[in-house]
Amino acid sequence: MGMSSEPTAPVSSDVRKVSFDDTRGAFAHLSNQELRFSYWVFKLMNSPLVVKISSQLGLLALKLHLPVTWMIKATIYRQFCGGESIVDSRKSVQKLGNAGIGAILDYSVEGLSHEKDLEGTANELLQVLHEAEDDPNIPIGCMKLSGIARFALLEKVSSKVQLTAEEQAEWERAQGRLERICEKAASLGVPMYIDAEETWIQPAIDQLAETMMQRFNSKRAIVFTTLQMYRHDRLAYFGKLIERARAEKFRLGVKLVRGAYLEKENERARSKGYPTPMQASKANTDQDYDGALDLALKHLDCVEICAGTHNEASCMLLVEHMRQKGLPNNHPHIYFSQLYGMSDYMSYNLSGSGYNVTKYLPYGPVKATVPYLIRRAEENTAIAGQMSKELRMIQQEQARRKTS
Ligand SMILES: Cc1cc2nc3c(=O)[nH]c(=O)nc-3n(C[C@H](O)[C@H](O)[C@H](O)COP(=O)(O)OP(=O)(O)OC[C@H]3O[C@@H](n4cnc5c(N)ncnc54)[C@H](O)[C@@H]3O)c2cc1C
Repeated sequence: MGMSSEPTAPVSSDVRKVSFDDTRGAFAHLSNQELRFSYWVFKLMNSPLVVKISSQLGLLALKLHLPVTWMIKATIYRQFCGGESIVDSRKSVQKLGNAGIGAILDYSVEGLSHEKDLEGTANELLQVLHEAEDDPNIPIGCMKLSGIARFALLEKVSSKVQLTAEEQAEWERAQGRLERICEKAASLGVPMYIDAEETWIQPAIDQLAETMMQRFNSKRAIVFTTLQMYRHDRLAYFGKLIERARAEKFRLGVKLVRGAYLEKENERARSKGYPTPMQASKANTDQDYDGALDLALKHLDCVEICAGTHNEASCMLLVEHMRQKGLPNNHPHIYFSQLYGMSDYMSYNLSGSGYNVTKYLPYGPVKATVPYLIRRAEENTAIAGQMSKELRMIQQEQARRKTS
């Protein structure tokens, strides 16, 4: 594990084959009891009605200050989060590390707006980098710009409306926080992923991410931007970024995802009457995602990528492209990444076959992680009555253990 500045030369001849059907390897890290727990959580989330009602009740109970945090902590939080603090998360980091999987500590506190809180998040991110310095099981850090800059300010900068003098000073303070974080990441040699967010704040994020990459990625990718391929303009933007990186001689770090805010984006476009920035269909998103993987592999001499996806076909496509190009499984410019508690059957099998794998490991106070947890629950509900793949794989492993 650990990202390196080596160019495209193979670092080993590891070309082992990977299969996502090996439930034994995929769930070896879970005891029977832990497997039963995961089964139970995914079974509950499989019902769209249960997810809808419990999300609304959970949010309401928190608003009314009812004592429900213990219940959230004992269920969905336990499945998807590492703990309430960095120290609390160490056990989960170690467990992933035992299987060769790197943890990306994701401080999951959202929607902050006071300067003191934004400063607090920046300090927390610096702490994560310090933790990574001491722990090889944490190869990379990640952050959301909206955690260190006020959302409404990011929106105003993105819309290119003139800032007031006070806002300009606030914007400079936010940029200062980002610079401090990227400087620390560079001095420790720990890459930092900048997450992609809503399209109406993304222009400001893109501009900052590009500036940071230009400044810190001269030898290797320290700063990574994120491209959401559910946007119909991102493949073209990726091409432009590659041209810029080549012209200005910096390494392009890119995390490729499909995108987490589809309904919110479409809803806003509808209500404000502008054309949606989203792709016309899931098939178009898939096509551009796979197109972006292809483009990245064509430019591996200047691009480093993280495929942040639970999509089996995309992962297998990347595996196949690597094989065809004769790249070793652990090529230093290619990472696979999934979210903690999800798609273990992919993460553990990829890692078991020698690929570079990380998992986003969210942590933070239970209450603060609720929006994140609701997104995960919604992502894991049954589609058109079909049981989630996750649940099927857990069931298969339970059956295998019973008979063996
Ligand atoms: C390591 C990691 C980092 C991440 N970082 C970010 C980030 O920075 N920003 C962010 O937004 N998300 C991020 N995500 C979340 C990610 O966007 C979702 O997990 C992802 O969208 C789920 O898609 P998938 O690739 O796993 O595959 P799938 O389950 O195959 O795809 C589902 C996705 O396809 C897209 N989609 C579905 N229906 C349609 C439709 N009708 N039209 C167009 N598109 C459609 C949506 O994006 C949907 O989420 C991250 C995920 C991981 C694993």
